[in-house]
Amino acid sequence: MINRLKMTGILSAAALVLVGCGTGGSSESSVSEEGITVVTTFYPMYDFAKNVVGDNGEVSVLLDAGQESHGYEPTPQDIAAITEADVFVYNSDEMETWVPSVLESIESSDVIVVEAAENIALFELEEDTATEEEHSDEEGEDAHSVDPHVWLDPVYAQAEVEAILAGVVEADEANQESYEANAAAFKGKLADLDAAYQSAFEVAENRTFVVQHAAFGYIARRYDLTEVAVSDVSSDAEPNPAKLAELQQFMIDNQITTVYYSDSASSKTAETLAEGAGASLEVLSPLEGITEEDQEAGKDYLSVMEENLSALKKVIQ
Ligand SMILES: [Zn+2]
Repeated sequence: MINRLKMTGILSAAALVLVGCGTGGSSESSVSEEGITVVTTFYPMYDFAKNVVGDNGEVSVLLDAGQESHGYEPTPQDIAAITEADVFVYNSDEMETWVPSVLESIESSDVIVVEAAENIALFELEEDTATEEEHSDEEGEDAHSVDPHVWLDPVYAQAEVEAILAGVVEADEANQESYEANAAAFKGKLADLDAAYQSAFEVAENRTFVVQHAAFGYIARRYDLTEVAVSDVSSDAEPNPAKLAELQQFMIDNQITTVYYSDSASSKTAETLAEGAGASLEVLSPLEGITEEDQEAGKDYLSVMEENLSALKKVIQ
């Protein structure tokens, strides 16, 4: 009896999907013959979606490397691209704060929307970090109340891939098997990455690192490390001199001899701090953008995460 009931449930779910995709014939779907079109917001969403889509269509990205991913303003072309896509992928309302109002304005579009971090509990920021930027931005839109940088955690990255997979399959059921195989292969690589981070930090005695942009809170939590950040999660804004002096003293007291900075952002503050504390500078990428040049040279999410691991190992040991 229970099986029968379950069966009925599955059948009606299938019927609903068929209604959604038109007649449900062998190759009938809203996806064009050239394949699925997926529009993503910024680099990690692009990389994850590309790994799921594979050869089944076209994945594009709205933000170029170097564009400020916190506090971005969409162009009319961006909005048109989202409207016309089969699937639109973004990280979260907390990262791409501009997305909810855009989605409201294009309600009539049948684009399938994936908020990749939807099923991830984002961690709340402490008061002083969350409100620090408010004085410079009255509306406070750029100041996050939770940390949006989940894509930097190889475990949460797998959850984001799963969310993307669900959206892509919903749009193009005909290629479900292919998408599932692609996603499984990529999730396997993310699991390997997680294992590499785990084993690298397992017995480290020094577990504290100093970084310019507070993007590594999820990595710190996942691997039991302590992130000390110069700026807050939403920008690379310069901290006041008192905070900088405090950090400098902290580094000297704790014999921390490296300051991490993002190669895509200004490193001025990190340089000042490193100089004052007699420390050296190292790149740690928040992966918010990879230049086309670097992508052509083979850089991607996995390779940059491995570079980040090598960089972190210089301090966490
Ligand atoms: Zn960031």
